[in-house]
Amino acid sequence: MSFFGSSTHTLDDLFVHGLKTVYYAERQIAETLPKMAAMATNRDLRAGFEQHLTETENQRVRLEQVFRQHGVEAAETTCPAIDGIIKAAKATASDIDDKHVLDAALTFSAQMVEHYEIAQYGTLIAWARELGREDCAALLAETLAEEKATDDKLTQIAEARINRTAETQTA
Ligand code: FE
Ligand code: FE
Repeated sequence: MSFFGSSTHTLDDLFVHGLKTVYYAERQIAETLPKMAAMATNRDLRAGFEQHLTETENQRVRLEQVFRQHGVEAAETTCPAIDGIIKAAKATASDIDDKHVLDAALTFSAQMVEHYEIAQYGTLIAWARELGREDCAALLAETLAEEKATDDKLTQIAEARINRTAETQTA
């Protein structure tokens, strides 16, 4: 019986599987962020997507370093979870005409992505520590900090938008 394929037997296998999954996810995210930036109207939101694209590309390189430190070749494993989040984001965005509503949807979709990544990296860091790979954990923690900062920024953008809407309604 195997959920991850017959080669996953140990926590080490699970850790490597997780690295491959998130390595795939970061590429999908890097391909999606420019499209989200192009759709965004809010200046902060667009700039945030562009900045996070640079970070995401760097996170791929950082993962390659983790693979190397752990002595395995960098490779991708398809992740249906990130594929689903991106598919849902596209479906929602394609139905929206109002640019402010579209910004709200893009912010929401981006937070779904960040929360997925926070879960992935949080678990990978714990597994790395359990495996005695503090060196890998330290690198992964750098990425986790960027994902959390991005999530916080998205929350601020969403709150600013909600406050603007409230002001317009009371004006
Ligand atoms: Fe990322
Ligand atoms: Fe991210």
